[in-house]
Amino acid sequence: MIVKGWCPGAWRPMMAEDGLILRIRPPEGRLSAAQTHGLAALAREEGQARISLTSRANLQMRGVRPERHEIVLRGLAELGLLDTDEATETARNIILTPFWQADDGTLKLARALAQALPEFPVLPGKFGFAIDTGARPVLGDVSADIRLERNAAGQLLVRADGEQTGEEVTEATAIPRMKAMAEWFLAQGGRRMRQLFPNQPASMAPRVPGPCEAGMLVGFAFGEIPVETLARLGEIRLTPWRMVLLPGVQTPPALPGIILNPDDPMLRVFACTGAPNCAEGFAPVRNVAAGLAAHLPEGKTLHVSGCAKGCAHPAPADFTLVAGAGGFTLNGAGLDPAWLLRHPGRVFGTE
Ligand code: SF4
Repeated sequence: MIVKGWCPGAWRPMMAEDGLILRIRPPEGRLSAAQTHGLAALAREEGQARISLTSRANLQMRGVRPERHEIVLRGLAELGLLDTDEATETARNIILTPFWQADDGTLKLARALAQALPEFPVLPGKFGFAIDTGARPVLGDVSADIRLERNAAGQLLVRADGEQTGEEVTEATAIPRMKAMAEWFLAQGGRRMRQLFPNQPASMAPRVPGPCEAGMLVGFAFGEIPVETLARLGEIRLTPWRMVLLPGVQTPPALPGIILNPDDPMLRVFACTGAPNCAEGFAPVRNVAAGLAAHLPEGKTLHVSGCAKGCAHPAPADFTLVAGAGGFTLNGAGLDPAWLLRHPGRVFGTE
């Protein structure tokens, strides 16, 4: 079924001006070398030059013609990147720490949760789970409703999003406890757990490209991986930070589109698709964002949005440019777009 709306999946894509948007949820948040290679080939067949990384550590392919949807679904299924049906895909809203180690139980718990989900109650569409059971939690500010974490002593904890503390569990009791928490949540009648526990999310240290505990993190401008690069990346783990983790890699690969410099301002610039590919967009915002990036003051973030919806970056940014019918506004004040690109330093107060 093809629908208009938010949170597209592969089975239930969203229609945009340039075709269907399919969101792909790779099992366990990772792809083998064969899968990255195959997915790149699939995107290329659809005439796409890039695959996007999403803020829930999924992948997004756009520009699929409706008559090609079935063919792409078959291709994803052959690659092991498609759930059996739409209901399974929608329910399997699990993000796991990309820094898991083979012996830390994260994969086992993620698999156990995925297998148990058919026994869970039907939850709201955006309701999700975080398996954040590496050496320390890293997903505290990533959207999820029920979290499985470890405390400093390594004890497993199930925590409702927004709650300050979790409940101690074991590997055997973790999933049943998460199910009980989901049932309790539904009985409260909310749509997201944070409505019930509205504490501020834990602020986590920003992640940047470079060596990490499980390999090498590499970034991409606007979170988009060129398909030719995807084809040659080998095995990857997905992250919610517009980066992928290359497990076990010590030397960064020199491939087009990869950002390796942690100070690259493009890591702090967010922009949606904008016009013309999104019907809501008032301007082609990516070129504005790229034009301003080099002038962005150190440590500051810039969000350029094609309309007031702000899809690319739901969190506040230091500088927010929003395109509208009358031009751009900067942090709420009107701006002439031509002036904006001629005087980027004035946008950021540095000239
Ligand atoms: S912010 Fe507006 S223009 Fe940009 S992708 Fe979302 S709906 Fe489209």
